[in-house]
Amino acid sequence: MALHVMEEANRCLGCKNPRCQQGCPIHTNIPEVIRLLKAGRLNDAGWMLFENNPLTTVCALVCNHENQCEGHCVRGIKEAPVHFSVIESYISSTYANQMVKGPAPSNGRKAAVIGAGPAGLTIAIILARYGYKVTIFDSRDKIGGVLRYGIPDFRLPDSVLDDMAYRHLELKGIQFRPNTYIGTAITIDDLFRDGYQSVFVGAGLWKPRKLNIRGESLGHVTYAINYLASPGAFRLGERIYVIGTGNSAMDCARTAIRHGARFVTCVNLTDTLTASQYESSYAKLEGVQFIYNKCTVEIREDGVVLADSQVSPEGKISPVPGTEKLYPCTGVIVAVSQGAESNLVRTTKELDTSRSGLLTVDEDGHTSRPGVFAAGDAASGARTMVEAVANSKRVAEAMHQYMQSLPMPVTTDYPDIPTAESIEASAQAEQSI
Ligand SMILES: Cc1cc2nc3c(=O)[nH]c(=O)nc-3n(C[C@H](O)[C@H](O)[C@H](O)COP(=O)(O)OP(=O)(O)OC[C@H]3O[C@@H](n4cnc5c(N)ncnc54)[C@H](O)[C@@H]3O)c2cc1C
Repeated sequence: MALHVMEEANRCLGCKNPRCQQGCPIHTNIPEVIRLLKAGRLNDAGWMLFENNPLTTVCALVCNHENQCEGHCVRGIKEAPVHFSVIESYISSTYANQMVKGPAPSNGRKAAVIGAGPAGLTIAIILARYGYKVTIFDSRDKIGGVLRYGIPDFRLPDSVLDDMAYRHLELKGIQFRPNTYIGTAITIDDLFRDGYQSVFVGAGLWKPRKLNIRGESLGHVTYAINYLASPGAFRLGERIYVIGTGNSAMDCARTAIRHGARFVTCVNLTDTLTASQYESSYAKLEGVQFIYNKCTVEIREDGVVLADSQVSPEGKISPVPGTEKLYPCTGVIVAVSQGAESNLVRTTKELDTSRSGLLTVDEDGHTSRPGVFAAGDAASGARTMVEAVANSKRVAEAMHQYMQSLPMPVTTDYPDIPTAESIEASAQAEQSI
């Protein structure tokens, strides 16, 4: 590994105008990181990566490098680009073991973060660096959002996220309140009542998009985001059709193969796949089949009914009548994207959304409700994790500025009840008698 990493590092031309850095949505200073590594300063390189991108260990594994840093590398014009993902993975995972510093001194203020996905984690880590007491609320039992409950373990092992929970949350004193959906028992108003001076919403997109066809509610049918959260819970049999050909469809197809499916076919509306080349080539390598230019018109107990697709002059895709055909199968996974859930918005006054349910924000993440900020997929729509992190970095600074402009919080004073310290002191005094 080390030899390979240094071989890659030595291939870097150290361009004065680094296109790799421009191609990276979070603008990682790639030439400088590589220069530090080559100079034997691995820890400095690691520190630099984490300062710029708190989720660097994850980005190294799941970013779409072919379109970002590596896709812009000058070397890539004539030969293979410098594989910075390998370098970043090595430096960040090695340096992570040394990140044992405790919490920053408290600044006496607290902030709430809804959602422990890439957006929420970034906000929490940056605010904790400033000394805020941060609590993250998530409806799930562990941190990660899509990183844990969407991206399969064979692409991103849970251990990477567990390590992040330990180093970033436990060591830095960030509180995590699991299994807590904000918008039902607890609302955003409750958070303000309880002294959080600002609230960040990084709730992502968790409502599966439907095909709106007959058969979608049958027992052998599921949606990508439901399937990927716990594939072992489903019994979809050996012959599976995945409707869709984006990256999450590839994740479903490859996961199904690892869970016993023998024949997996992805159905594409058009003649081009929307998944990245890497993801679709892995799927093909693992035996996934593809059929093109087909509309799914019905799901039956014994298979899916597909018809040829046609495109109208306005670009609308529809089935060609009379071309319907049954494709027998034992299970169907619908993987045609996700939209926003509305419970949180419904229970929060003055929180504006677009027609598609995305939170309305300005470029610093201010929502229509003072003190409430948002970023990540819940505000931008389905994008990539590095974009969620990059946007959240900017929003964290805006939240910091906002909270600094507020008076220091005051706690309710009950003059007649003893404090925790005085109770402790009198207990100790009693023991010593
Ligand atoms: C299957 C799949 C694979 C993907 N693969 C890649 C990839 O390889 N590379 C890449 O860059 N991007 C990938 N993406 C996209 C990427 O994961 C997202 O852009 C990113 O996770 C968005 O981060 P987020 O923090 O906004 O939301 P999320 O990751 O969705 O996290 C939101 C969190 O909020 C919680 N939550 C929601 N509502 C509430 C509430 N009301 N109260 C409390 N908690 C709540 C959820 O439980 C979740 O934990 C993939 C997406 C999917 C669906």
